[in-house]
Formats: sequence, C-alpha cells, structure tokens
Amino acid sequence: MSEVYENLIGGRWIGPTGDRRFERKNPADVTETIGTFPALGSEDADDIVDAALGGLAEWRTMKVLDRGRVLLQTAALLRERLDEIARDLTREMGKTLAEATAETSAAAAFFEYNGGLARAPEGDVLPDRRDDALVWTRREPIGVVVLITPWNDPLATPARKLGPALICGNSVVLKPASYTALSALHLARALHDAGLPPGVVNTATGSGSTIGAALASARGVAGVSFTGSNEVGAQLQGRAAGSSLRLQTELGGKNAALVLRDADLDVAIDAITSAAWGQTGQRCTSTSRVIVEEPLMDEVVDRLVKRAESLRVGSGLDPRVEMGPLVSAEQLDQVLAAVAEGRAQGAEVLFGGERLVDEDHRDGHFMAPTIMSTADPQNVAWVEELFGPVLTVRSASTPEEGVEFVNQSRYGLSAAVFTTDLRRAFAFTRDIEAGQISINLPTAGWDVHVPFGGFKESGSAFREQGVEGLGFYSRTKSIAMYGG
Ligand code: NAP
Ligand code: MG
Repeated sequence: MSEVYENLIGGRWIGPTGDRRFERKNPADVTETIGTFPALGSEDADDIVDAALGGLAEWRTMKVLDRGRVLLQTAALLRERLDEIARDLTREMGKTLAEATAETSAAAAFFEYNGGLARAPEGDVLPDRRDDALVWTRREPIGVVVLITPWNDPLATPARKLGPALICGNSVVLKPASYTALSALHLARALHDAGLPPGVVNTATGSGSTIGAALASARGVAGVSFTGSNEVGAQLQGRAAGSSLRLQTELGGKNAALVLRDADLDVAIDAITSAAWGQTGQRCTSTSRVIVEEPLMDEVVDRLVKRAESLRVGSGLDPRVEMGPLVSAEQLDQVLAAVAEGRAQGAEVLFGGERLVDEDHRDGHFMAPTIMSTADPQNVAWVEELFGPVLTVRSASTPEEGVEFVNQSRYGLSAAVFTTDLRRAFAFTRDIEAGQISINLPTAGWDVHVPFGGFKESGSAFREQGVEGLGFYSRTKSIAMYGG
C-alpha cells in the first residue's frame, strides 16, 4: 500500500478527507504508486490564508537572527535527509538520482544563503538637509505570500521562493505542482521540524485551476510568486491587474546556444548536450535551439547526433542512466505532437523524435533525445517551448546573423555563446535580450546567490535569488528622526 500524505496547515498535519484525494504514479514505471495527497478545493483557500495570517503575527516580529537560525536548521535537516528526499524526487518526477541529489543540495543552499542574509544590512542610513536629523530605511515583510510552483524542480523552485520570503518575515502558502507534491511536503516537514512557528508555512495540495486560482485571489494575500507556464502566468496577471496584489512571474524560455566558427567544440558539445537533455529537457533554462556558424554546421550536427545516440535513457534510479522519463503521459504526448507538427511544417528530424516502447521502457513516459533542423522562423520547433528533450538546430552565415537568430523569440530567459574571441563574447553579452548569459558554459546551472529571471515574455521585473531576490518579498520604509 502506498502512503497517504498530509498538508501542513497552521502547524498541524492534515490528511485527505473523503474522496478529496489524488494519486501520483512513478513516471518511469506507472505500475508504482508514489502516494495519495489531499485534493483541496477553492472553498479551502480562505481557511489556509487565515492560518498564514495567524503565523504572520509572530514571525514578522521575531528577530531576524532567530528567523535566520530556523532557515539554517532547515538546511541542515535537508542535508541530513538528502538520500531519502532525493530518492523520492526521482520517484515522483523522473529526473536521475544524480540530478535529484544536486537539486536537494541546492534546496538546502537556498536556506543557507537566505539564513546567512539575516546578518546583512537591513537598510541604509541617508544624509538629510536639516540639522540634527537622521534618515534611514528599513526592509519590512509584505504579509502573506502565495507561492505557486511547477514540477520540474519541485524542491529548488519552492526553496528559491521560501528562503527570501521567510527571512524577510512573511508567512507563506505553498501550492506545489500536483505531479510533485511529495517534494514540497519534504520541504514543509524540514521547516516544521526546524522549529518554524505554526502557520508560517502552509501547504495546499490540489489542482491549480481550483485551489491555486482561489489562493491567488484570496483576501489577505499580499503577493503571489508564480513559476510555470505563460498561459497560467497571463491568467494571474489578468486577475491581478487593477489591484494592489504584488505578482512575480517566472515563465518559459526558448534558450539558444550560438556556436561561432572559432569555438572550442569539445566545450560547446559537452555544454549543449548537458543543457539540452539534462533533466530530459524539462528546465526553464534548457538549451532548445542551437545556431551554428556555417562552416561548423555539419561537424556540430554530427557530434550532437552521436551524443544523442549514446545517451542511456531509463529509470533515474538506475545509476547508469543519463536521461529519465518525461514527467507525465500528457507532457510526453504534447512533446511528441509538437515534433510531429514541426515535421509536417517542414522541419527535418535528424535523430529521435519517437517514444521508446521496448520492454525496458514501455511502463514509463520515455522518449528518445531528439534533434530537429529547420531554417523556418515560424516552425513550431523553433518558436515554442516544448519542455522536452528536443533540440532544434539551424545555421547562420555570420556572427551578427547568429545574434539575430538568438533574439528571434518572444522569450528572453537564458542564452549561451561558444567562442574564443573576446570581442564576440563581449558583444553577445551586450546585444542579447536575456536575463542570463553564458560564455562557453551551458544555458542552465545558475547558483543560488546569482540574480535570476527572464526578459521579454519570460518573466516579470522582479528578480529571484541573491540580494535582489529580497525585493519582491519586502517593502522599504523610510524613517526621518530629529535628534536635536
Ligand atoms: P502550469 O500549468 O503553469 O503549472 C504551474 C503551477 O501552477 C502548478 O502548481 C499548477 O498546479 C498551477 N496552476 C495551474 N493552473 C493554475 C491556475 N489557473 N491558477 C493558479 N495556479 C495554477 O505549468 P505546468 O503544467 O507545470 O507545465 C506546463 C508548461 O509550463 C511546461 O510545458 C512549460 O512550458 C512551462 N513551465 C515552465 C517552467 C519554468 O520554470 N519557466 C517550469 C515548469 C513548466 P497543477 O500542477 O495542480 O496544475
Ligand atoms: Mg498545467
């Protein structure tokens, strides 16, 4: 029998009631059930926000150093439980155990970094034109924040939001993706066991379109931080417009790598392979387009095809496996349908493109690493974020044309250039419209203290991570005092 899991609400663990529950299966082997989770509905939103309002009163007035200690203890517990948590992450989401282990460690690092920020300055002292006057600023929490997170990094994405939200003194309702509720509950348990007061972090498992939407517009909520699809992001923006709700969105990407004729190809091929097929292409910073300066096109394509051929696809629990399944049957079907559509529109499939159905793979949502080629800027494989292991390649006749192709997207999350020419590298950092730029490094893999977020339709103006990440979760109060 698989386990029945509970939400943390107001400091108590609360399981499913009646038939309001849902099950999650292992995407590498759908004959295994991971667990059963409460399916909360719209009608539960107000009670959970009330629980968070209850937690806020104590947490916001607690000394920041004490808040920091809880975060550091949370990190220590995550590291202590790393093996169990990483294994559950692989079982529920599908990524390899190596990827899951790295993610668990990153989640701990988010709490370590933000716990350490407890000792950072809380504001500035400013000059004043008046005699004997002192002016200073202070950062304050904004209140109850709702965090809505996707399934692809189900520990790191909530941790990236929880760390700054909590150190600033806010209380939280976390609505995790339904495919990966267990990872979020591991985070909640670590926070609870670390001594977080009741109601400061509350979890709300259940469908996004019901409990997620209701939380995002519930009374008493000061901010919503959302990571996920552009479609849901736009719905949230539409509903928040005209209200004082603060909204942060981290949305999609169609990240390109540009390989110039002077590139070190060993470096480029390794970086593109890891960023295209790592985590089965299910990262917002995955490389999904490759643009190659013409003389190198055939060589780059040949080498990428060889790498795709040699990648071992299977259950992430098998240590030899390099690429796990897609997260779900729906996601697999969507990616395969997009590949078929791209082909119908004239793109060539150079490798892969199909589901794996042999005996080792038929119980999971596996597909081959895929390479497509098209020079059509309207082709779906060039335009859409497929969120799967699909790389689309094209050539450019000059470096300038390459830059134009990189920018040829409504997204602007991450981009990479491979070159040994410093001037070209520098121009790339200046001319590319993306929040994250890599030179001779993968588009993915940003550390927890580095400001993170997209330009254009990839996200809102609020950055995540680093000191800048505190901006969304705090408001600045300016204080003037006469001391004469
Ligand atoms: P999604 O549908 O946007 O879901 C993200 C989160 O929002 C989940 O917790 C989801 O809950 C919730 N949600 C869904 N509908 C909602 C609504 N109407 N109101 C409030 N919350 C709602 O994204 P997804 O289904 O996980 O993935 C779909 C696509 O999103 C991917 O193919 C990819 O393009 C993109 N994506 C981007 C990133 C990124 O980091 N930029 C990450 C993941 C996915 P449920 O799980 O219960 O539906
Ligand atoms: Mg969805």
